Amino acid sequence: MNNNKIWLSSPHMGGNEKKYINEAFELNWIAPVGHNLNQFEKALEDYTQCGHALALNSGTAALHLSMILLGVQPGDYVICQSLTFCASANPVKYLGGIPVFVDSEKDTWNMCPEAMEKAIQACLDGSIADSFPSVKELTKTFARKPKAIIPVHLYGMPAKMKEIKAIADKYGIPVLEDAAEAVGSELYGEKCGTFGEIGVLSFNGNKIITTSGGGAILSQNKAYIERAKFLATQAKENTPHYEHKEIGFNYRLSNVLAGIGRGQLEVLPERIQRRRKVHDFYLDALGGMEGITFLKEPYGYLSNRWLTCVLVDREKTGGVGPQEIIQYLAADQIEARPLWKPMHLQESFEGAPFFGGYIAEQLFDQGLCLPSGSNMTDEDLERVVFRVKECLDVKLKKAV
Ligand SMILES: *Cc1c(COP(=O)(O)O)cnc(C)c1O
Repeated sequence: MNNNKIWLSSPHMGGNEKKYINEAFELNWIAPVGHNLNQFEKALEDYTQCGHALALNSGTAALHLSMILLGVQPGDYVICQSLTFCASANPVKYLGGIPVFVDSEKDTWNMCPEAMEKAIQACLDGSIADSFPSVKELTKTFARKPKAIIPVHLYGMPAKMKEIKAIADKYGIPVLEDAAEAVGSELYGEKCGTFGEIGVLSFNGNKIITTSGGGAILSQNKAYIERAKFLATQAKENTPHYEHKEIGFNYRLSNVLAGIGRGQLEVLPERIQRRRKVHDFYLDALGGMEGITFLKEPYGYLSNRWLTCVLVDREKTGGVGPQEIIQYLAADQIEARPLWKPMHLQESFEGAPFFGGYIAEQLFDQGLCLPSGSNMTDEDLERVVFRVKECLDVKLKKAV
């Protein structure tokens, strides 16, 4: 076996990216905006059927601007999924808001609708301040409606959007969908990122397609997109001189990087197909092993399988958990990782309100992300499987 490094998820270019970048060079349309940017946004709109798209320089920037669009201000509650990457919740803090974390459910690992409703009710009746004293330091008016709900489609698996939307509508709270990891995933035939008032995508280097760094806002509401574009370009008024009535940001994607995005979007269907094959390969090879569980797609759900993640139950593997497998793989130049560490367990969100039980915590304890890049060869996959099995066998033998 060769021992080249196998990454968790590395960039995978399609071929046309360079052509579009060259176009930008030839036209000297390097910055700030230009043809690639317009075409990339149009392609995003066509692909997702989202209505309107705005390309930005990161998913985090897209989340930040979206929260401004939804009116998040100091002291406002924002309902967030706890099991996620920090960028889903950090912008709440940029704006002085209060993230209210919600546990996951077991079917998709995403926001639990029941726990979410409890969180909303605790905000509405103000009881949140009794259970979580930190809230009293952040706001004087405890009983208020959350400004937004931010479900996440982790690892590409769609969250229970139908249930979440029904509750959100009942209380009249807008949904901001963090679809950073779910570009191309679908729920009942519709693309993730198009279910909420606003959806956010990421094109960071490790995502299913990449612009090296980038993100986008999707919305049916054109006014949101126009306002986001204005704020993303330093809130410059439409005058010959530089006139500003508001504070803005420098968040737009560059025209050069949008060229990479155009090329990447052309091969997205192939990338999804390959990542799903990677998942099926692991499922075939490891699905029958004692103590290893895969995340199934519920009926009507289509995950882009950005990362294939499994749960490893130490009690059934003779004491082998995710950490042991990660270390074992690392010794053979194979990168694997635990799941995201829940936000309510992070020091950066110490004391933040949390609703639910121990699902997110258990998932973090047992979860393992396997290398899932669309550029992995079958030989790479066999090497990973061989080492995972070896690790489980070695430990089992030692345990006997
Ligand atoms: C990657 C990611 C983001 C942030 O995107 P960037 O483009 O890296 O800023 C936000 N949320 C989730 C769930 C992510 O995985």
